Amino acid sequence: MSRVGSLPPVLRATLRSPGGKCYRHCDRPIREFHLASGLPGVWTVRACPGGVVSVTYYAEWTGRDPTRDVRRALERCTFPKRLVRSWDLRLATREGPELGRAAERFLATHPPRRGVRVVYWRVYPFKAKDGTERRLLVCRRRAHAHPVFFAADPAARRWGCPVCARRSR
Ligand SMILES: [Zn+2]
Ligand SMILES: [Zn+2]
Repeated sequence: MSRVGSLPPVLRATLRSPGGKCYRHCDRPIREFHLASGLPGVWTVRACPGGVVSVTYYAEWTGRDPTRDVRRALERCTFPKRLVRSWDLRLATREGPELGRAAERFLATHPPRRGVRVVYWRVYPFKAKDGTERRLLVCRRRAHAHPVFFAADPAARRWGCPVCARRSR
């Protein structure tokens, strides 16, 4: 709790986002889970039951820019790691009324002044060379020490996780 950058409950509460549905894939409700990253803040992954990722975001209570650490951590669990591109990472700083009164009061009474910095990683659907669609998916099979991010055609029959596939052969 006392670790630099970690989010006290009053700030953690400001991150809650309404459910939402999987966009242009399956229309099923989005689920959230947290990614252990070794970083002090909270990492949230929003994905549908089919594994299509809508966004991941890492939040830290800090005065620094955590983007570089976020990038490194993502590269460790993304195959191939070139899927993590700097222009898909976006930093937002929240420190005012948008956090709500309780959080705003908390920040005002806990100097030095720091905000909640959030790094979003959003990969939009893209076309592969053969013209079919690729989306960011996440594999959470127990075989993995951590979730694995990869790009695949969500309409394909075969689960395209490159790490599981390699193991089963
Ligand atoms: Zn979906
Ligand atoms: Zn896998």
